[in-house]
Amino acid sequence: MPQSSPVINPFETAKRQIDIVADLLKIDSGTREVLKHPKRELTVNFPVRMDDNSYRVYTGYRVQYNMARGPCKGGIRYHPQVTLDEVRALAAWMTWKCAVVNLPYGGAKGGVICDPKHMSHGELERLTRRFGSELIPFIGPEMDIPAPDVYTDSQTMAWIMDTYSQEKGYSVPGVVTGKPIAIGGSEGRGEATGRGCAYVIREAAPDVGLKLKGASIAVQGFGNAGSVAANILHDEFGANVLAVTDSQGGIYKADGLNLHGVEEHKKKTGSVVGFPGSKPLSNEEVLELKADVLIPAALENQLTSKNAGKVQAKIVAEAANGPTVPEADKVFFEKKITVLPDILANAGGVTVSYFEWAQNIQGYSWSLAEVNDRLNKVMTESYARVHAVAQERKVDNRTAAYVVAIQRVVDALRIRGFFP
Ligand code: NAD
Repeated sequence: MPQSSPVINPFETAKRQIDIVADLLKIDSGTREVLKHPKRELTVNFPVRMDDNSYRVYTGYRVQYNMARGPCKGGIRYHPQVTLDEVRALAAWMTWKCAVVNLPYGGAKGGVICDPKHMSHGELERLTRRFGSELIPFIGPEMDIPAPDVYTDSQTMAWIMDTYSQEKGYSVPGVVTGKPIAIGGSEGRGEATGRGCAYVIREAAPDVGLKLKGASIAVQGFGNAGSVAANILHDEFGANVLAVTDSQGGIYKADGLNLHGVEEHKKKTGSVVGFPGSKPLSNEEVLELKADVLIPAALENQLTSKNAGKVQAKIVAEAANGPTVPEADKVFFEKKITVLPDILANAGGVTVSYFEWAQNIQGYSWSLAEVNDRLNKVMTESYARVHAVAQERKVDNRTAAYVVAIQRVVDALRIRGFFP
């Protein structure tokens, strides 16, 4: 399946993916057209008062791609390079991600063209509240539930929740997820992506004849997703993490790194690099390391036609979004390397976002153990379904995941019928 690429319009890529799966599933042309169009798109231009009392006009988008299976779900990103086509593609991918793990959600995404690194806290708050107020007719717990994404965080969500609640006249915690715990955030949300990824690896391991106890792991990108996955694989499943990297470079230790020590070192120095007793390793080398499981958890387009042939892992688990380009996918399929595709392997985050919303609308909160138990069940069942379809259809897991997801959306569209 093609992934996004910086030179190709991401929405064209997303539509090509739909066509490939629609061919496999023999989906009629009318339904295919529905799948290839976002249901609703909002573009807003709005003024924000800057700290020097001048005003600047910002452009923001919210795309609700498909809501056949339930309210839309997806993040809001703040970035200078946000485009409507990027937001459309991300909204389509959220639709498939929610469907592959069987959440009762459609997909959406939002973005504001801005440079948050050069904005003050006050400017960001005013931008967020004004964008949030422009979104009020289009979002809500039953309609569309935003979450954090690139350069937005729990504070951004708190501002949107407050703005929406001020307008309604009462608190509406279920309008966004990824909130601080104090206003209805969920236990376990912070580590959900890495934890979900570790669970999917655990499920896939026996299918490639791998015992996780003592298995070797390499992680590119020791950030939120990568570090949590590494820690769980080590602490809970007995794996040995040989190498981790971050934007500064990486470290390697043949008999396994002491991850808690690495975390401490990173806190002190800002990077994993230079951890005592480790050898240096580059971000390219980590991908080709002799390890049973490779977890790309940093950037897109890391595994390409140039390096895919040198990958030695049995499992490539995509904690990051889009780390593998289509040419590399082909090589992995031929080499019988099992890829756990992003829409499955990193869906733990949106799954616990769904739990947060479910707790909010019930007015109830679950313990960390309950959240993790439910996450375990969702990830286990989702892997089993994708793996079964991959076996049945003799396709790779990525194609199988799209088949599962798109079939679920098509089933919902068909059973509801096309209005009127
Ligand atoms: P993060 O910022 O916490 O971590 C990213 C890590 O990648 C950092 O350690 C950073 O130093 C490293 N990095 C940056 N540039 C690098 C480079 N050139 N080479 C190697 N490493 C580099 O972010 P995160 O939340 O862990 O997200 C990582 C990936 O996971 C992204 O692709 C993101 O879209 C995806 N993801 C995250 C979540 C989530 O809930 N956090 C959910 C779904 C998908």
